[in-house]
Amino acid sequence: MPPTSARPCIVWFRDDLRLSDHPALHEAARTGAPVICLYVLDEESAALPPNARPLGRAARWWLAQSLRALQASLHTIGASLVLRKGSAAKIIAELARETGAAAVFWNDIVQAPYQAVADQAAQALEQIGVASQDFPGDLLASPTNVRTKDNRGLRVFTPFWRRVQSLGDPPRPLPAPRKLSGIPGLASDALESWQLEPSHPDWASGLRQSWTPGEASAQARLKTFLEGAVAGYLGDRDRPDRDSTSKLSPHLRFGEISPRQVWHAARFAAAARPRLAADIEKFLSELGWREFCRHLLFDMPDLAARNLQPSFDAFPWKHDNKALRAWQRGRTGYPIVDAGMRELWHSGVMHNRVRMVVASFLVKHLLIDWRYGEAWFWDTLVDADAGSNPANWQWVAGCGADAAPYFRVFNPILQSEKFDPDGVYIRRWVPELARLPAKLIHQPWTATPLELSVAGLELGRTYPHPIVDHKAGRERALAAYAKLRHAKL
Ligand code: FAD
Repeated sequence: MPPTSARPCIVWFRDDLRLSDHPALHEAARTGAPVICLYVLDEESAALPPNARPLGRAARWWLAQSLRALQASLHTIGASLVLRKGSAAKIIAELARETGAAAVFWNDIVQAPYQAVADQAAQALEQIGVASQDFPGDLLASPTNVRTKDNRGLRVFTPFWRRVQSLGDPPRPLPAPRKLSGIPGLASDALESWQLEPSHPDWASGLRQSWTPGEASAQARLKTFLEGAVAGYLGDRDRPDRDSTSKLSPHLRFGEISPRQVWHAARFAAAARPRLAADIEKFLSELGWREFCRHLLFDMPDLAARNLQPSFDAFPWKHDNKALRAWQRGRTGYPIVDAGMRELWHSGVMHNRVRMVVASFLVKHLLIDWRYGEAWFWDTLVDADAGSNPANWQWVAGCGADAAPYFRVFNPILQSEKFDPDGVYIRRWVPELARLPAKLIHQPWTATPLELSVAGLELGRTYPHPIVDHKAGRERALAAYAKLRHAKL
């Protein structure tokens, strides 16, 4: 074993695939010792019940690109990224033994499965006499600092966010290390051998067209957003036909940028341009929703499986595979719903307003259990997030924390008319409707045969009839809800 001063430190990367504002990496660089950067593809521990599930396919694609970007940026500062696959605790302890490491550092990811695996790693290291240390960096505030008097997490967003803000600014972001002394020659898997990306068939071309994963791209997006579209965010963020939001969600999901970096950059922009104050407050409160969802997950690790309001356990969901498939494929006959589902399939994201509309359509018009929708999103979203995805689904379904009431059934036609008035978004994603005039595009079934023929459309052949009538679907949903309430009395 080398003498202590020359003994390396290991930095274990997880959902924090960046160099800047990376407290664990910062600390390792500060020691002056050689630094080994490690990423473990842990499908063994990650698959452990009851709280974890493997990454969805779109997120696996993103992970591959993000690791490639991290490899490249580590290379420019003199280090490399060691890739290994298996149980993280075992691999970390083996690598520490193999290299004579003095310490292992990582950032805390406040999610039960991550924390359980980190505890196992800390124990394994302790057994071989290697120090370990974790650092906060994934959240604006620790869930242990945002509690009620009887030590529970806050379930309502507004007081939650007020409390987080009352804690003051989060710590200032840390700079990226300029230089690391790596250790050459350590065995590493080839990224390709992990088969994170699809090949037969290669369905990821839409993801490639839509995104450049990695820290540099995340930083560039934040800068572009704060210099441009943030002006007007308050009014435009609900418009899927406009490019008015930051598109930071997958970058935040994989920790290519930290929430504290976003926070401080936004505050700086607000100070420099006071007339943007309201837009920036709104933007930061959306970051607050991410935080809220993560805090909910801290208290309820089984958020994706269990109704937060247990009364919903008796909800009379319908099993309708045909309708579920039509929804997944964007063939419901409701243009705004189909546009959203096709955007998702192509680009791995969907505009937030449209996420609400399609989710409401699934759980209310089709009466399909929200967990089926959540699972589809989990597999197809590049920003699929263990907190935000189930928390938002539960919010729409009416069974979540601070949820929209179940009886608030989104009208997909009115939503479409209001938020995509000229049908720009629909035309982009449902090209077979592109030649319909704006007044018909939200409900093509109201067009006359002549109007349909001028638009080159044949309902039932080139585009489906609605799979459920809006009014009948709404009434059926309300009747199911009434049954649930009746059962509760
Ligand atoms: P911006 O408007 O620029 O917002 C900035 C950041 O705030 C986002 O990047 C995101 O991190 C956060 N944010 C914004 N809205 C929300 C929200 N409602 N809940 C939590 N965080 C939010 N977001 C995910 O990141 N992952 C998910 O898996 C996810 N699933 C969702 C499922 C449903 C049914 C719904 C209704 C929403 C879901 N969202 C999810 C929230 C939201 O739709 C996305 O965060 C947003 O569309 C991302 O676009 P943006 O980065 O341009 O957002």
